[in-house]
Amino acid sequence: MEHCLSGNYSCKSKFIVIFFLILPFFQTSYAQNNKHNAFVVVLDAGHGGKDPGNMGNGFKEKEIALQIVLNIGKELDKHPGVQVLYTRTKDVFVTLKDRAEIANDAKADLFVSVHLNAFRTGTPHGAETYVLGTYRNKDNLDVAMRENSVIYLEDDYEETYDGFDPKSPESYIGMTLMQEEYLDQSIVLADFVQHEFTTRLKRYNRGVKKAGFLVLRETYMPSVLIETGFLTNLSEGRYLNAASGQQAMAKAISDGIVRYKNTLNLEDITKGLPVTTDVADNTSKVTYRIQVATSRRNLKTLPQNFKGLRDIEKEREGEVFRYYYGNTTDPGQARDFLNEVKKAGYHDAFVVKVEDGQK
Ligand SMILES: [Zn+2]
Repeated sequence: MEHCLSGNYSCKSKFIVIFFLILPFFQTSYAQNNKHNAFVVVLDAGHGGKDPGNMGNGFKEKEIALQIVLNIGKELDKHPGVQVLYTRTKDVFVTLKDRAEIANDAKADLFVSVHLNAFRTGTPHGAETYVLGTYRNKDNLDVAMRENSVIYLEDDYEETYDGFDPKSPESYIGMTLMQEEYLDQSIVLADFVQHEFTTRLKRYNRGVKKAGFLVLRETYMPSVLIETGFLTNLSEGRYLNAASGQQAMAKAISDGIVRYKNTLNLEDITKGLPVTTDVADNTSKVTYRIQVATSRRNLKTLPQNFKGLRDIEKEREGEVFRYYYGNTTDPGQARDFLNEVKKAGYHDAFVVKVEDGQK
């Protein structure tokens, strides 16, 4: 108290300076925080509209996938802190690119695509969950090829997907790099989902698999594609076509997602964060840095995670990670840094002034 009263004038003036510096950015900063408060899950019901998906035993993939997805959404809605978005809630055709874009635009934390499998004979059955990766056997490639072939229904698929040909094995080489950063997290989710299927529902476990699914290639977040079972297997087809089976599968998937979310939170709390020294140590001077992004995810500060920007620095504040670019004592250079960052595509970026170790 005594200290504050005696230093009253300088204290107040410093406060005012910082206040006016922050003011223009207040709106942006608020919107960002708001968005990151919720754990956003994008649910993607495969196929729809003119694309029926597979029709094994007369069961319709597009209808069953939608029912399961809507049920997952209802289950997730019971969890505060989870926000659910859908790529479709009706029987409409949505391109693979648009599905991924819905998730990317929302800066979603998870992308979960739901499908139903098919085979040329009635024997194969069971559930499997895919992450984007290099296929280990021909069967996995076949599943990806069949699911990717829906792009033939799009007029400009060659252009839209950079010459990708669903039927050509060559097209599948190299596409796995796109999801590399999210692979570990995607596998964790896939594991949880398969665990729910097999321990609680006693579905046959076909495991966590890798293959080149286009829709997963296009997303920038942990993403899985679940083949909930085979419509070409009569008893499994009946199970998945029944409301009870759809609800059971949806509950299992939703429980897997919630477990994944809780695991992330736990890691956030326990994981030590390398302390960036510049804010703490620059106690005697003013520096400027550009805040590029805020996220609940602990990202590696690699250029590919930050639209090519190098030397990103990471700081933790509570449950949130802040990512900064540049560090300078010169306001002019700070402006240049800001322009650089905006040019890279971070339109909401702003300058943070650090004075006496305080933002
Ligand atoms: Zn499908």
